[in-house]
Amino acid sequence: MVKAQGQSGPGQPGPGQPGPGQPGPDCALCPRLEAFRRDNRNLYPSFHNAPVPSFGPRDARLLIVGLAPGLKGANQTGRPFTGDYAGDLLYATLLKFGLAEGSYDRHAGDGLRLVDCRITNAVRCVPPQNKPTPQEITTCRDFLEEEIAALPRLRFILALGAIAHAAVVKVQGLPAARVRFGHGALHELPSGVMLADSYHCSRYNTNTGRLTAEMFEAVFARIREVMKA
Ligand code: SF4
Repeated sequence: MVKAQGQSGPGQPGPGQPGPGQPGPDCALCPRLEAFRRDNRNLYPSFHNAPVPSFGPRDARLLIVGLAPGLKGANQTGRPFTGDYAGDLLYATLLKFGLAEGSYDRHAGDGLRLVDCRITNAVRCVPPQNKPTPQEITTCRDFLEEEIAALPRLRFILALGAIAHAAVVKVQGLPAARVRFGHGALHELPSGVMLADSYHCSRYNTNTGRLTAEMFEAVFARIREVMKA
């Protein structure tokens, strides 16, 4: 178990508030990511350049798990999926399905609120070329485990991409191969939590047509239907 520190609390969390599942700003458990963070602090001194804390109320029933912060997205703004294309699609969809309120404006001070929903990443630090190593994913999984354990009303997890899916499955103590990733799939985990899968809402996936806004919305429509049941 790793030592955790960071943000959150009742209602909407903010940076600097302590809470389980939140690494400290100088977490050094992944040497390559720590070195990259150091370089980025020199190159982009105005950026967040630290593990990105989860966003949303701790009493949420839905947890969305992404891969890792983007260099000029969450690593810049300090809020998951905020500042780059992936956030444009994700937050527009959350607003459409009543899982967010306010308006999204690509920065952490836009006043957007999540409703019954929280967002985190499988890996909290930005990796070079958006590619964490298997070891980094394994190391940061302790924080994901703490995050999940600290959500008292959690009933649904949406994994964005196969890596996030595998991280969630392993947190449940299952081998990744036991629960296979599939876009649109819904799995009941032994804990009783429902795990939904979607392709990641990255620009690459939408540019290549792997994921369309309609496909993404269909996943949320299904989750909303199950949440209301
Ligand atoms: S990715 Fe996670 S475990 Fe690795 S340095 Fe960042 S916060 Fe620590």
